Amino acid sequence: MTSDGVGFEALAQPGIRGLRAYDPGHDLVAWRRRVGPGLIELGSNENPWGPSAAARDAVLDCLHSLHRYPDPLGGDLKRALAAKLGVEVPQLLLGNGSHELLMQVGQVFAGAGDEIVASEFGFAVYALAAQAAGATLVRAPALPRSHAMPRGHDLDALADAITPRTRVVYLANPNNPTGTWFAIDALAAFLARVPDTVIVVVDEAYAEFVDDGATALSLLPSHPNLVVTRTFSKAHALAGLRVGYAVAHPGWVAVMERVRESFNVNLVGLAAAEAALADDAHMRWALARNAEERAKLSEALSSRGWFVHPSMTNFLLVEFGADTPMFEAGLLERGLVLRPMGGYGLPQCLRITVGDRDENRRLLAALDEMR
Ligand SMILES: *Cc1c(COP(=O)(O)O)cnc(C)c1O
Repeated sequence: MTSDGVGFEALAQPGIRGLRAYDPGHDLVAWRRRVGPGLIELGSNENPWGPSAAARDAVLDCLHSLHRYPDPLGGDLKRALAAKLGVEVPQLLLGNGSHELLMQVGQVFAGAGDEIVASEFGFAVYALAAQAAGATLVRAPALPRSHAMPRGHDLDALADAITPRTRVVYLANPNNPTGTWFAIDALAAFLARVPDTVIVVVDEAYAEFVDDGATALSLLPSHPNLVVTRTFSKAHALAGLRVGYAVAHPGWVAVMERVRESFNVNLVGLAAAEAALADDAHMRWALARNAEERAKLSEALSSRGWFVHPSMTNFLLVEFGADTPMFEAGLLERGLVLRPMGGYGLPQCLRITVGDRDENRRLLAALDEMR
């Protein structure tokens, strides 16, 4: 019996015992209370330019229907996504953020005795999904720091890690926290090495930021075991509303639908996502701002002698070396929140969301005070 008097830990399923919940970095609510509106939040890869005005209007239009349940099928949003992505509606699964879907893939397709493969420095949710499912996480080594994609996914190593027990492989393209990416023909070569009974999840949370629009979606027709996940949280700037989706074979979607909570995506989120999706001009504008600010910030940090990982996202992974805890603490004191990387085994790095011009300038000024 533990200190809770009942011993809930021992009552939990094996995978849940010892599981540590997703670490969102700092306690932002406490920091907002402490610092007030001047707090600069560059820790969660949110979009500083905000969503489309059409999405805000769509939110306001919902206010008269808040007593109603949302469409359990999310039909309007799915039809808009299908048209936009060139896929069929039955290929789409909506999630309360893509985080929910990433977790459910593990629970639906893996269990005790099974293996789930992900890369070293891959997004933290994959390890959680494996553990929560009671499966064994197998980590493939990442590419070396000296590679053109430092600490990025090594697709050969990932393929080598697959065994007859493997049920799911999680890849992120581009990856968080490294910012690195891989080419779609490299993914095709990887998929050719994977048995079609292994679900390959390609997490495209940052797909909109990819310069040439390369996406794993083009490989779906030839690979029924491929699942592509996306989100409205990053480029679409709707992190607060929790809308994500997966695109896959209709048969995969049908199985996943069995465990989906019927109203998992709320009324406001559905409406805002649909409006955001239709606003191409706003998206182009936000992507151009991000690319410009990212290039400037990356250049400014490198010129100060810090190693900046290449990035096709809205964040930069930066190596500050042995001084990392000093910079982290000093930035917090000055009201700037970045994401510490100790949990990823990169205590010498910080992950920095690309802010707006003023935020980035204040970040550099604060770093210069401490150098
Ligand atoms: C942010 C992020 C997600 C999760 O986004 P949701 O807000 O849950 O849709 C998924 N994968 C990666 C790699 C991310 O960075």
